[in-house]
Amino acid sequence: MRYILSNPMRSLALFLVFVINAAAQVAPVSGKRYARLAIRNATILDGNGTPAAGPFDIIIENNRIAAIVALDPVAVNGGLRRLPADVEIDAKGKYVLPGLINAHAHIQDSRDGIPQPLEYELKTWLACGITSVRDVGSDFTQTLKLRAASAAGEIAAPRIFVYPMFGRAGVGIRFADPQNAAEARTAVQQVKQKGADGIKLIQVRRDVMEAVEDEAHKLNLPIAHHAGVEEANAWDDVRMGTRSIEHWYGIPDAAIPDGVQNFPATYNYNDESDRFRYAGHLWREADPKKLQEVLAAMVKANVAWVPTFDIYEASRDLQRAQTQPWFTDYLHPALESYFKPNPKNHGSYFLNWTSNDEVFWKENYRIWMAAARDFERMGGLIGAGDDAGFIYQIYGFGLLRELELEEEAGFHPIKVIQHATANNAKILGMEGQLGGVRVGYLADLIVVNGNPLANMKVLYPVEGEGVEWTIKDGIPYHAPTLAAEVREMVKKARSARQ
Ligand SMILES: [Zn+2]
Repeated sequence: MRYILSNPMRSLALFLVFVINAAAQVAPVSGKRYARLAIRNATILDGNGTPAAGPFDIIIENNRIAAIVALDPVAVNGGLRRLPADVEIDAKGKYVLPGLINAHAHIQDSRDGIPQPLEYELKTWLACGITSVRDVGSDFTQTLKLRAASAAGEIAAPRIFVYPMFGRAGVGIRFADPQNAAEARTAVQQVKQKGADGIKLIQVRRDVMEAVEDEAHKLNLPIAHHAGVEEANAWDDVRMGTRSIEHWYGIPDAAIPDGVQNFPATYNYNDESDRFRYAGHLWREADPKKLQEVLAAMVKANVAWVPTFDIYEASRDLQRAQTQPWFTDYLHPALESYFKPNPKNHGSYFLNWTSNDEVFWKENYRIWMAAARDFERMGGLIGAGDDAGFIYQIYGFGLLRELELEEEAGFHPIKVIQHATANNAKILGMEGQLGGVRVGYLADLIVVNGNPLANMKVLYPVEGEGVEWTIKDGIPYHAPTLAAEVREMVKKARSARQ
């Protein structure tokens, strides 16, 4: 009797579940924001260093994560709840992560004097799952306009954080090269007034750096520092309060017992072959004990580290760098031309690169990677960025390679994902908004065909793998479609040059 009574109730419940599910079996249109978008049956890998869990339904309202509903047997035992939506993405068997953040990027509209459409770079980023970039040196005015267009959803592009470049290097893209403290302060005020998100320092004198940092702190502008071989090193970053050290220069330098690297008499810093060859000797000259003191001081002063392992990889294995499979379909002819060994192009220093150089660099990497790992173990904040557009790295692909290299450094894949999401959000000052899969956060998410914790390579835009959807600010972009558009752009540009 009770069985007969309960049966219609059960049918009704099943019918309601069916109606809710059936009502929104519509996939989103790429590039369109919806009032309510559902990602169903997702395995979530949050950016906060915790393991994957699922399945969940994620509900996005406009550009925010509005609800995350657990669907695992334990949760369902307490009552199944499927929230309705206008459109939905079925993420069964897929991993959903916070959108990747590229903490070291350059927006480039030409290479080697050849025009390169901005659309090529912006869409490649999205196709690789990147929803935010920290631009650390580009045409400042143009990049501010791009930032606004991206924020308004007018172009398919990641969020852009603009850090104009100050220093002696970067002629053509730098904003200013202040010669003294007064000029430095004026320049900082100017970029603040124009709307900069931070400042990138490259090759500046110590007194200029001091003034830039002091003025920037007053105006709440974080500093990213690419030290190079110069007066200032990591001790200055610690003392002055730099937000992040880029690459690695300045860290081993701060631990060299005699205060200067053992350069040969003929060394010329402006000869890039010299510069990069002897950079490969630098880590071994750092005193291991002093190095630990430098790292500890960085942790204490809250100086983060964005190592960009990917951008020097050609130095330890040139052949690998020159024969990446992505080059066939994704290498724009402007980049291709720029990458060819040529003393005129920054980072194209391979005219006479030897096996000896590669061996020095391999050891350089071993010490560098161990230092990065020690730094995190002490409590330091490691980020992830690629510096693509130089040294055989294509935009987006470079960041994915960076994740692989951070894994090679010994970081657990969960930590690697944290570096590229929550840690980078923190470096940007966007913690609590970006870098996590959490109710109330901005809806920057990626739906991945595969488990990056088992294999970071599933993130590359390869047939049957890669990111399926890149959702930025609530707007879903179908990543394979964007990747196809990029390949088409490359094809056209190549045939136009023939
Ligand atoms: Zn750079």
